[in-house]
Amino acid sequence: MSVGLLRSISDAISGGSDDDGDVFSYECASCGTEFDRPKTRMIGVRCPNCRSMDVRDASDA
Ligand SMILES: [Zn+2]
Repeated sequence: MSVGLLRSISDAISGGSDDDGDVFSYECASCGTEFDRPKTRMIGVRCPNCRSMDVRDASDA
């Protein structure tokens, strides 16, 4: 398990201001925007660009 490495990457992406480290990747089916949300916020996820709720899992694409 390389949790330390994953946390380092997460810090690099987020600028170190966010300590979640455990996010889920989504892709909006309407506009194609890709975004991340904490796994604890998987319910009611909406696209930050167009506010569509028609989003899909982009983590295994
Ligand atoms: Zn969208």
